[in-house]
Amino acid sequence: MRVLILGGTTEARELAALIAGEHHVITSLAGRTSAPRLPAGEVRVGGFGGVGGLADYLAEQRIDVLVDATHPFAARMSANAAAMAVPTLILRRPGWVASPGDEWQRVASVEEAAAALTAGRVFLTTGRQTIHAFAHRDDCWFLARSVEPPAPPLPRNLEVLLDRGPFTVDGERRLLAGHRIDVLVTKDSGGSDAKLAAARERGVRVILIDRPPLPAGPAVPTAEAAAQWLRRLPSR
Ligand code: NAP
Repeated sequence: MRVLILGGTTEARELAALIAGEHHVITSLAGRTSAPRLPAGEVRVGGFGGVGGLADYLAEQRIDVLVDATHPFAARMSANAAAMAVPTLILRRPGWVASPGDEWQRVASVEEAAAALTAGRVFLTTGRQTIHAFAHRDDCWFLARSVEPPAPPLPRNLEVLLDRGPFTVDGERRLLAGHRIDVLVTKDSGGSDAKLAAARERGVRVILIDRPPLPAGPAVPTAEAAAQWLRRLPSR
């Protein structure tokens, strides 16, 4: 089959590696990072041009199956994928679940997270496209970690740490201690929870931004489950 994976995540790369020997795989990346980790198989980069552009691309490339393996917060791309006529599977890793001792404050948006802050030292791991939402909080000091530099408007008291995971609990522990962090603001992305484990240990308050709702349709939590789902599809 000709499979298009909407990627930009670890799970998307895992799936491409798993099925590249069985199917013709094309992974699509948005093009947000300048040196992305490349998956197995073919890669294309850049937006399609909305729902119509994606539908045209699927037809041109004779795509049989679409796998939406985008990040849980890439809501626009997921909505476009859900509107396609070809069989579509959502591959979405599970969100985080609080452990005993965790005191997470869940909020619905980055703006709500910014409003929930009290003065203090804040570690932002919400992504460079969200840092502007904290620009008005002159009473806070921010450490923002992102793969690419954030664009203005930016908070006045901001240090940017350009880095890309995976991160270790030990490393996160040192980061929180070294910068005397009071609050961690993060998205409920799921996956490695090193920063949450370190925050728990140090009693750092956590503000967790909830995921947008999942579009309707079949969904699996792992690349292995997605590969199995594809194997069960009648061949085209
Ligand atoms: P978004 O807001 O849902 O997407 C905005 C537009 O970017 C889409 O309408 C689409 O443009 C294009 N796009 C997004 N993902 C694409 C893909 N895989 N291939 C081709 N075009 C894509 O998404 P976003 O939050 O900007 O995320 C962009 C990419 O970064 C995604 O692939 C996602 O997996 C990855 N990512 C996002 C986050 C996050 O926190 N949002 C974190 C880590 C990685 P057209 O309408 O023109 O097709």
